[in-house]
Amino acid sequence: MTAASTTPLADRWRAVMMDTYGTPPLALVRGEGSTVWDEDGRPYTDFTGGIAVNALGHAHPALVSAVQEQVARLGHVSNLFVSQPPVELAERLLALLGRPGRVFFANSGTEAVEAAFKIARRTGRPHLVATEGGFHGRTMGALALTGQPSKREPFLPLAPEVTHVPYGDTAALRAAVTERTAAVVLEPVQGEAGVLPAPGGYLRAAREITRAAGSLLVLDEVQTGIGRTGHWFAHQAERGVEPDVITLAKGLGGGLPIGATVAFSAAADLLTPGQHGSTFGGNPVACAAGLAVLETIEKEGLLGHVTRVGERLRAGIGALEHPLVREVRGAGLLLGIVLAEPVAARVQRAAQDAGFLVNAAGPGVVRLVPALTLPQEQADALLAAMPAVLDASYGDGGAPGTSA
Ligand SMILES: *Cc1c(COP(=O)(O)O)cnc(C)c1O
Repeated sequence: MTAASTTPLADRWRAVMMDTYGTPPLALVRGEGSTVWDEDGRPYTDFTGGIAVNALGHAHPALVSAVQEQVARLGHVSNLFVSQPPVELAERLLALLGRPGRVFFANSGTEAVEAAFKIARRTGRPHLVATEGGFHGRTMGALALTGQPSKREPFLPLAPEVTHVPYGDTAALRAAVTERTAAVVLEPVQGEAGVLPAPGGYLRAAREITRAAGSLLVLDEVQTGIGRTGHWFAHQAERGVEPDVITLAKGLGGGLPIGATVAFSAAADLLTPGQHGSTFGGNPVACAAGLAVLETIEKEGLLGHVTRVGERLRAGIGALEHPLVREVRGAGLLLGIVLAEPVAARVQRAAQDAGFLVNAAGPGVVRLVPALTLPQEQADALLAAMPAVLDASYGDGGAPGTSA
């Protein structure tokens, strides 16, 4: 068991940081690719990727040089001036999405969702539909869409007229959407809820239902976008799903803070001058990082790599036939190991002791969201370590029939 949580740095954290997270169990000082090092110089293979953020891993040379060059040339101008990186990044995003549209840049996922919420308000309709278990961020508008009671209830009242429907239930969605509905807001895979993919056909049904009602379809791709599932955007896996609005963040900046709201057709023109803004949004350094991420995904063929490594990880964990693993779900390198017992926190700790950083996404799901560049050998090393990690993670401290 590592004692990192009682190091001087952890003690200082505990003394001055607002207690929104508890004190994290480990202090990291350096990263390279998919390896990070702690204060004592101990290496770990990183399957958390800064919560699906570090698309290119740590300290990728393309990201480092793009950021260094941009911050040395023109670091920040605000929305009072035009600069090149946000224009180029918006052009690239729209090209990857394959449709004309408009982009609003912010600095985080929750802000990307706030802009989508405000676009929805500008339709003149009052009602929104989101999903139970869905996660859209922590600011008050995004929180009103988030379908997790523990995150919402301390902050009631939230924005009114948001209906939450069971995720993946087409009939419930159809029943909830009316001519008063401004927008339906969905994740293609519920990430924070424990990596829960939409059932096949659900997104297409959501598109048909919203189109028929004249409502917007907002797909929150903050976690699933930018190659995470082996597609540029997760909704592109299914034909016939053309959302009105897409929200992006996490992987887009490869570790630099950036969020983006992309809108198409009429939705692209609903926000007019003076109605929304962000001092930092479109920051040239963050946008230069975004461009480096997109270029590197393309140049290194990372979409195919994500699909291959992700499939081998998924199949490999399944093939262990370990009694603690019920299934592995998700797509690409957004994987959830669903456990037969609610011991995800124990798995996280045992993995850390074995030199692997994984994330408990809820009591019964271990989430793997490594860099899109994760080398196959490092994925295989986790597979080799998994049986012992799982054996060490039973609720009673040992596997059934073994002496712990
Ligand atoms: C993480 C996440 C958010 C919030 O992003 P922040 O950058 O933490 O504000 C919103 N939506 C989804 C789907 C997410 O996974």
